[in-house]
Amino acid sequence: MDTEFWPLPWQEQQWARLLELSASARLPHALLLAGPSGTGKAGFAAHFAKLLLCSDRGNQPCGSCRHCRLVAAGSHPDLVRVQPAEPGKAIRIDQVRALREFCAARPHQSGWRVILIAPAEALNASAANALLKTLEEPGAETLLLLVTHEPGRLPATVRSRCRLLRFAAPDRRAGLAWLRHRLPDAADAGALLQAAGGRPLRALALAAPETAAQLAQLERLATAVADGTLVPPAAAAESAKLDWALASDALLARLAGRIRQSVVQRRPAPVLFDCLDALVEARRELAASPNLNAELVWDRLWLAWRRAGAAGGG
Ligand SMILES: [Zn+2]
Repeated sequence: MDTEFWPLPWQEQQWARLLELSASARLPHALLLAGPSGTGKAGFAAHFAKLLLCSDRGNQPCGSCRHCRLVAAGSHPDLVRVQPAEPGKAIRIDQVRALREFCAARPHQSGWRVILIAPAEALNASAANALLKTLEEPGAETLLLLVTHEPGRLPATVRSRCRLLRFAAPDRRAGLAWLRHRLPDAADAGALLQAAGGRPLRALALAAPETAAQLAQLERLATAVADGTLVPPAAAAESAKLDWALASDALLARLAGRIRQSVVQRRPAPVLFDCLDALVEARRELAASPNLNAELVWDRLWLAWRRAGAAGGG
């Protein structure tokens, strides 16, 4: 996303805090940026990395110096990004070991070096362990930025070596104002934001055409399973191809709507809560072991959804 959008309006306090630490030469070795997903932490971290590398020394990266252009091109030699090879997979130990060489070598430019690890919860146990030494002694003017929406999944040994910087989702008004600005043509930005659980960047992603197609497919499957026109195994085979985070979020939003409705009507159905349990459990399982067979997980989920569908509503 373009430079002009960072920090996002709900991140100004965190930005001011980092500027203050930086100006007084009190930046720690490592920062853990933690908060809900889809609210812009990774973009914030990348923007701060750019600021540290910028030769302009302002409160925003200038965007035009050689360093800013190298960062924008993804080729600044003093910035390393560590991420899983594929979304949802783990960060491997060799990726972390390579950081030691990066830290041991002399900086290419005079000034900061930055290591950006996102999502940090993707570090597997051995990779997290291998990171400890780098976290303790990264070398002068080297900053590690770890970004996570699940700090609880990081080993305490990693967390304790980082300064925590907390982020929150914006309140609905601020989130909606930002989303409307980004999507002036969206028919119903409010519904998008709601489907995204109040997380504006997630809402923005939901509006992308390929995402909309996946969501439409999920809607079709959910309706067909609930009304009995499609059996769970058949639905599972199709759903396994969907983006898990996207599809499970959408299913959760839909289920939450039904639960709310049942409570308002004073007819809360236990099967709805069983289905919610199944969904939460499936999310936990897939978060813990991304290599699980998604079709099996979906099969169980659709079975619970089928039972909940029999309670009416769909
Ligand atoms: Zn610059």
